[in-house]
Amino acid sequence: MADLRKPRICVIGAGPCGMSFLYHNSKYQQAGETCLEVVCYEKQSDWGGLWNYTWRTGLDQYGEPCHGSMYRDLWSNGPKECLEFPDYTFEDHFGKVIPSYPPRSVLFDYLQGRWSKANVRDPIRFNKLVKHVTYNNDTDDFTVTVKDLGCDKVLPSERFSHIIVAGGHFSVPNVPDFDGIGTFNGRILHSHDFRKAEEFKGQRLLIVGSSYSAEDLAMQCRKSGSGDVICCWRTKPMGFKWPKGIEERPLLTKIDGKTIYFKDGTTADVDVIILCTGYLYHFPYLSESLRLKTSLRLYPAGLYKGTLWMGDGNSKLMYIGMQDQYYTFTMFDIQAEWACAVIRRKVKLPNRQEMELDIKKWLKEESLLKNCYDHIDFQTAFVCDLAKEVGCKYNLDVKALFDRWEDDKYADVVTYRDQAFTSVFTKSPGIKHHTPWMEAFDDSIDTFVNQTPNK
Ligand code: FAD
Ligand code: NAP
Repeated sequence: MADLRKPRICVIGAGPCGMSFLYHNSKYQQAGETCLEVVCYEKQSDWGGLWNYTWRTGLDQYGEPCHGSMYRDLWSNGPKECLEFPDYTFEDHFGKVIPSYPPRSVLFDYLQGRWSKANVRDPIRFNKLVKHVTYNNDTDDFTVTVKDLGCDKVLPSERFSHIIVAGGHFSVPNVPDFDGIGTFNGRILHSHDFRKAEEFKGQRLLIVGSSYSAEDLAMQCRKSGSGDVICCWRTKPMGFKWPKGIEERPLLTKIDGKTIYFKDGTTADVDVIILCTGYLYHFPYLSESLRLKTSLRLYPAGLYKGTLWMGDGNSKLMYIGMQDQYYTFTMFDIQAEWACAVIRRKVKLPNRQEMELDIKKWLKEESLLKNCYDHIDFQTAFVCDLAKEVGCKYNLDVKALFDRWEDDKYADVVTYRDQAFTSVFTKSPGIKHHTPWMEAFDDSIDTFVNQTPNK
């Protein structure tokens, strides 16, 4: 039986968030602090979360829902300088300056470089699905039940003093219904199941949704030779100056065979419907009193400092990365560092009333935000607040870069990925990629980082 006077921590998921927790825990240990027992359960066979690309859709090899939502052709939709780790820059990793909008494989290589250097693979138990987490009031700890997927066996339950929920929230698709959709005689898929743009060559597409997936899939598919693309919006259009072959219309009202009817009274015939309608927060493995229930937002209610669960669990359960995301890797990292500092009592939690007041303050500010630039300001303040709490020596504020990125995108959605940004940490001036994104089909690491394209 574990000695629960000493923290024993269960991390759920070895994606960027879970890995940031393991990274900071190991940094504390390297600095001579107490070694805490950490076990990370990961249902996939490797680390990386969404970045661990899979061709699979639907169910995985064990009959569990496939976690992956990334597609083969994904390139970063934000400049890498906005997600760069100050203590492990892209230049540290690649040994040279590289362009600002890397393909998926380059970003994953970068992440893995930091994790490998810190040697944080050991605590991960792969192919282990967390099935149940409950809080025990009597003993002030958690019981965790895990299934070994490889052996098809539920393991004896384990007890932990703390839980870090890092299971991601872009994996369970939100799939709305539309009048007559059952009569559609083409293919219907959610962006969660989109893997290759090439597949849609020559096909006329309807994309439902007006956020990142809608924008990127429309562009990816046109780039790969699809027919015309219509994106339809519920709340507001994306409003970009689209290239020929992409247009926006208000939401569809009904479908009849191949014909789509839109709110503005127009119709169009399409071959494929791609639902870019976002994801559900879905944590079936957490007992009801521990479960975060929210829509996608910058400050999910119920989390002190956007991280610590205010429900059951006596301030010993924390969620990482549950926000809507402008900042990604650096935000996850500072949340993880904060979580480590709380567990190690380097950061003292105020009393419950003060924590509630702090949450209220953030929620009030969130409710006043008007546009994407306000959102960026808000998330910058959130990240910097956590950085201050842990005494981070780096300035993580990359607001100016995000603002420029938004300006670039609204100026030209086709060329924004061709721009170059300067790293705030290395100060090395950015370089342009050798090939405009619209013409770049080779997304290998070699071709991207070397300035002579392989033709
Ligand atoms: P995930 O990456 O989802 O990892 C969660 C991990 O938890 C997974 O490995 C999963 O298998 C595991 N897990 C879940 N449940 C269990 C369980 N019950 N038991 C055991 N293990 C479990 N961000 C960027 O910065 N740049 C981009 O270009 C970018 N592109 C994106 C493209 C798409 C299509 C999507 C959906 C997101 C993209 N993101 C991007 C944002 C992405 O959310 C983050 O980069 C990052 O992957 C989030 O990390 P995470 O650890 O929270 O979640
Ligand atoms: P999202 O941001 O949650 O957007 C969901 C969209 O679906 C919204 O436009 C929403 O409209 C719409 N929607 C939801 N329900 C609907 C309904 N019933 N009818 C019509 N429309 C509906 O999800 P996402 O676009 O999939 O993005 C998820 C994450 O993936 C983001 O973090 C993004 O950065 C990432 N991503 C990255 C890349 C890349 O790096 N290349 C590419 C794709 C995605 P409302 O506005 O009306 O709510």
